Amino acid sequence: MGVSKDFSVHFWGVRGSIPAPGAHTVRYGGNTTSLEIRCGNQLIAIDGGTGIRLLGESLLGAGPLHATLLMTHLHLDHVQGFPFFAPFLVPGNRFDIWSAHHNGTGVADILRQLFNQPAFPISMDMLKAELNFHTLQPGDTLQIGDATVRTARQRHPGDAVGYRIEYDGRSFAHCSDWEHPADGLDETLVDLVRDVDLMSIDATYTDDEYHGRAGPPRRGWGHATHTAALAHADAAHVRNTLLFHHDPARTDDQLDEIARTTLAHRRDVRFVAERQVFQVGQPLMLPARTV
Ligand SMILES: [Zn+2]
Ligand SMILES: [Zn+2]
Repeated sequence: MGVSKDFSVHFWGVRGSIPAPGAHTVRYGGNTTSLEIRCGNQLIAIDGGTGIRLLGESLLGAGPLHATLLMTHLHLDHVQGFPFFAPFLVPGNRFDIWSAHHNGTGVADILRQLFNQPAFPISMDMLKAELNFHTLQPGDTLQIGDATVRTARQRHPGDAVGYRIEYDGRSFAHCSDWEHPADGLDETLVDLVRDVDLMSIDATYTDDEYHGRAGPPRRGWGHATHTAALAHADAAHVRNTLLFHHDPARTDDQLDEIARTTLAHRRDVRFVAERQVFQVGQPLMLPARTV
């Protein structure tokens, strides 16, 4: 049997800031950030938002897991699913968990706070999986099996890390949470994502929201507009773009309406929905497999 060269990205949570369940978010989903990336037999996950509970359910019974977990940053919407990630309870599982230091702390400290009274009944020493914590500096390059992972610092309060994963001649980048500059392009981001086959990128706000024509101005809140996300995708010659980190107040119908007006002629761009799976290197016009 040959070695699989599958390179896929499965989105288990696409919502920004806080989970947003309800009748108006069923199609795009209400869970916060969790991505499952498969590079052949290698499992790389990004972030531990509430979507990681679903990823965990999908992995149970799959045998001992040796996986890598990459943290963009440690804001609550990116870590709050960890207490419900069942594979952490399974002996024999092993996770290599990478994060930068954010405001002087790393992911291990955050997990110790989450898995502790009075926040949660289960403490860290009750987790049976082996958790190995590693610190990266934005700009580092990691080698994870046959995948090469480039990193870059992103414009976000307290910083975030953007990732570019290259495998078997194909490339995927994940750039959330991120705010565009007031003028011009963020050259650090453009450099990270240049020519990738697929990118998911923070696109939380409409222009009216960001500039205060619809509610309070959102400049400085750490997130980008749809327009800015597309401008950066185009400048970097990104082949296919998934708009990500949907505002918790954004309904399914509003996302569809923005897609109709802003993305009307863009077959290379779409709002990503929870549970969608994409094959890196294939055009978006093929329907994504939804499981
Ligand atoms: Zn976030
Ligand atoms: Zn954040």
